[in-house]
Amino acid sequence: MIKKAVSAILSVVTLLLCFGCNKGERVFSKTFFAMGTMMKITLYDVDEMLANQLFSVCYDEILREENLFSVNIAASDVARINASKGDNVNISQETVLMIKNSVSLSRLTEGAFDITVYPVVKLWGFYSSEYAVPENDDITKALGLVGNKNIEFYGSSVTMPENSGIDLGAIAKGYLGDRLKSILKENGVESAVISLGGNVILIGNKANGEPWSVAIKSPFSQNEFIYEFLSFGNLSVVTSGAYERYFEKNGKIYHHIIDPKTGFPADSDLASVTIIGEDGSMCDALSTALFIMGKEKALTFLSKLEEISYVLVTNEREIIKSENLS
Ligand code: AMP
Ligand code: MG
Repeated sequence: MIKKAVSAILSVVTLLLCFGCNKGERVFSKTFFAMGTMMKITLYDVDEMLANQLFSVCYDEILREENLFSVNIAASDVARINASKGDNVNISQETVLMIKNSVSLSRLTEGAFDITVYPVVKLWGFYSSEYAVPENDDITKALGLVGNKNIEFYGSSVTMPENSGIDLGAIAKGYLGDRLKSILKENGVESAVISLGGNVILIGNKANGEPWSVAIKSPFSQNEFIYEFLSFGNLSVVTSGAYERYFEKNGKIYHHIIDPKTGFPADSDLASVTIIGEDGSMCDALSTALFIMGKEKALTFLSKLEEISYVLVTNEREIIKSENLS
């Protein structure tokens, strides 16, 4: 089984939250499958009609974004860029902003997060699920197509060299979480949890005013948790780890988080990185980048970002967390 479901953590997180609910409280949940993962939205203290309307609006938003950002949907903005063979491609203003934000997060992380890693991820078979260990020459060739300088904008159209492309997989769910959070808050929701396959977004506090209890999945065994903390709302909790997607060849594990410097799965001393902050897109990009950086570089990086909380789990099972976490 190549793709490990992370939904277990999400259902348990929600379970933990429900333990804190008062009797008779109006709680409504809806589960969706989209972007290759299970998603769940739980709304507290709303009436049933509004809950159902909001589930429908949120699902439309999920599909709308999937249709813009998926590598595998031929008509998406991203897939059209990737198939463009150097031609100019008209894309939505939203995708333009998403790419520009990704480029600045790439600069912030000194290139560890880089959406132009697309040709390398493709070579390893992570889009088609036809996994293969590439030849070194092919990796070198694909790496020659990686780099933000390959993205050129002309208003709301973009050009990239033939065979290059972009992959928003390390940021899209973070962005989606931000969008769903805005939709729910604009519609008066004051207490909610959104689970997007590994990402958890909290809105407000529990309906009884207490903080949420969030559990982080163990990178070492399915259905177990390695760390739990209490949090007040309006935060995204985003985890990246090699265990989320990988294949095995000749007894060696090859995972899906690629180091753009080497073209190989990042040889990290971290087993998982959880980033907690208000900006879900940023948390998502950082969780991927800091996994690649490894423990020492990640801690130096995090020491400069006061607004971000974190939980790093090393391969030695050490848990390193920011001081503000309970
Ligand atoms: P995440 O689960 O958020 O860490 O994102 C991992 C996904 O992002 C992978 O499955 C790839 O599709 C893509 N990806 C892999 N390596 C990188 C990288 N260095 N920068 C940006 N995206 C990446
Ligand atoms: Mg990410």
